[in-house]
Amino acid sequence: MRKYVIIGPQGSGKGTQAKRMTEDLDIVHISVGDILRWNVSHYTKLGAQVRRLMARGELVGDDLVQSVIASRMSRHDWNHGFVVDGFPRNGAQAEFFLESYDLDGVINLDMPDDELKRRVLARRLCSQCGLDYNLIDSRPRREDRCDACGGKLVTREDDTPEALDARLREYREKTQPVIDIFSRKEFVVTIDARAGIDEVQADIRRKLGLPLRDADDAEAATDGTDGTDTTDGTNGTKTPGRTRGTAHTSDDDDDGSDD
Ligand SMILES: [Zn+2]
Repeated sequence: MRKYVIIGPQGSGKGTQAKRMTEDLDIVHISVGDILRWNVSHYTKLGAQVRRLMARGELVGDDLVQSVIASRMSRHDWNHGFVVDGFPRNGAQAEFFLESYDLDGVINLDMPDDELKRRVLARRLCSQCGLDYNLIDSRPRREDRCDACGGKLVTREDDTPEALDARLREYREKTQPVIDIFSRKEFVVTIDARAGIDEVQADIRRKLGLPLRDADDAEAATDGTDGTDTTDGTNGTKTPGRTRGTAHTSDDDDDGSDD
C-alpha cells in the first residue's frame, strides 16, 4: 500500500500534483477541499454549514476538517493507498494521523512567497456557488462565468496582497509543527514547486521511489509545460499537461474556506 500526505501552501499546486499521482498509481486522492466543494455544490448538510461559514467570512475550523477526513477515511476505498491533501492542519492532527495510519511518505511542496502571491492573486470565485478558479491554470470555460452554475466570477475580497501575507504567515506557523512531527517519524520529501507541473510530478516520484509516468517524461521532454499556458476556453477536453475543465476539483488551495 502507498500512503502519503501532501502539504503545500495555497497556490503551490498540491491538488494538481496529488491528482496526477492517482492517474496511473492505484491510489485515491483524498482532498478536504474537493470534499467540501462537492458538499457545497450538492447542497448537503455539511455544504450548508460551509456556506454559512463562508458567508460570515469565517474559516472552516480544524475540528470540522478532522471529522470530514475521519468519515472519508472510514469508507476504506483506498485498499492500494491514498494521498491526503488538506490535512493535517495542526500538530495535534498530525499526531492523530500518524497513530491511525502508517504513512509511507510526506510530500512537502515548497514555493517562495512572491510566486505564491502571483498565483493566488489570479484566483476567482463564483459569486453564486462558491466554486473557485484560477486564471493561470484552471480557467473557466467561459470568461468570468462559473462552469457549474453560470454565476459571475469575482475576486475574493480577502485576496489582497496584505491579506495574503497574513495567511501565508499563518500557514507557515501552523504547518511547521506538522512538518516537524512528520520529519521526526516519517519520510518527508521537500519539492521545489516552482517548476512546471510535469517536472514537479517527476521530482515527487523520484524522491518517493515511485515509477515515473511515461506521459510526464514525454511531455517534459517536448514542451516543458508549466501550467501557465493560455487555454482556448472552448470546452472541457483534457489536454496533457493542463488541468483546465476541472476547475472545481483540480485547484490547489483546498476549498476557498480554509484560507
Ligand atoms: Zn458557480
